Amino acid sequence: MKEGLSTRCVHAGEPHDPHGSPHAPIYTTTTFKFPSTAALLDVVEGRKAGALYTRYGLNPTIQALEEKLAAVEGAEAALAFASGMAAESALFLTHGRKGIVCLGDAYGGTLELLASQLPQLGIPAYLLLGSELDRLPAILRQGVGMVFFETPTNPTLELFDVAEIADLAHPHGALVTVDNTFASPVNQNPLALGADFVVHSATKYLGGHSDLTAGALMGSKNLVMPVCGWRKNLGQTIAPEIAAQLARSLRTLTVRVERQNETAMKIARAMQAHAGVARVLYPGLPDFPGHDLARRQMKGYGGMLTIEVRGDGAVASRVADALKLFALAPSLGGVESLVTQPCTTTHHGLTPEERARRGITDAMLRLSVGLEDADDLIADLEQALA
Ligand code: PLP
Repeated sequence: MKEGLSTRCVHAGEPHDPHGSPHAPIYTTTTFKFPSTAALLDVVEGRKAGALYTRYGLNPTIQALEEKLAAVEGAEAALAFASGMAAESALFLTHGRKGIVCLGDAYGGTLELLASQLPQLGIPAYLLLGSELDRLPAILRQGVGMVFFETPTNPTLELFDVAEIADLAHPHGALVTVDNTFASPVNQNPLALGADFVVHSATKYLGGHSDLTAGALMGSKNLVMPVCGWRKNLGQTIAPEIAAQLARSLRTLTVRVERQNETAMKIARAMQAHAGVARVLYPGLPDFPGHDLARRQMKGYGGMLTIEVRGDGAVASRVADALKLFALAPSLGGVESLVTQPCTTTHHGLTPEERARRGITDAMLRLSVGLEDADDLIADLEQALA
């Protein structure tokens, strides 16, 4: 991979177009015709790449997006899905059937899939917090298919050492998957650190505008391609219109995320100095517990940070309600800044004891930093805290 990430974001997966369009055109058609049975069989039997049927992912717009997605994560292959959960579920059903270990806090939908839905299919899940990592070797010795984790996690921004976990898992035949949604490929490349798969909720930074729902899976061709079967028959393929929209977003990924990194750092520093804030969790702060690891495995510290206000959950709710630029909405990675109070949104379903076990307090507010001016965002937080 000789080109830089920004170049790949713009140029990868932009096939030659006979009309001179610089970008892959949108083929909304569901099927594609062939000049002969022999030509059709070449595609059906995999001898030739080509378009065939959109739900199979064999649609030029989707294939162009997948080429770009692979290039963006530095992967040999990528598959695009209708959502992040579609990517995760197809991956787990393909490669996790012997069991899946989930490390640390993960997105609620992922936890629900692992803890209550996959077990109904006889797929065991082991949920370990970061403080319980010492239990991982024993579980690996029992034989599991996959170790899955987010890094940084939501909302405490806990970091896991990708290379170290890959070194632990691989001798036992377990594949390693990193949900790279929070970091984005601009800030972290888990495949280069030893992971076998990267999954994304492309709904977040890859899409970047809170206007599309999509997912992505990246890895080596021999591991990624078997996932196609589940995607195809569970009907999880991305729609061509969304594929084109996501490809457009990816062309600006680096400029968006680099700005979001910068602004998040400024906000983290301003919040650290604010009397109304008890704690700031951000991997870029030198006193953050995971800072050394972040410096080693991340290229930027991301646009997500969590502040803990002085006071209780009611105070945090009042601050969230008083914000004007930060919208109270449960997502992340878009051009507009968002705020959530984990105990009322992402972690609302957990008991207070379980939240405490995960280090999540009622006074925490999670911020997704958008592309507004840093000074305006800081002023918004200051007026809300006041
Ligand atoms: N992974 C992470 C880290 C998420 O935050 C989310 C959604 O919030 C998902 C996966 C699921 O993605 P989607 O909503 O695109 O299905």
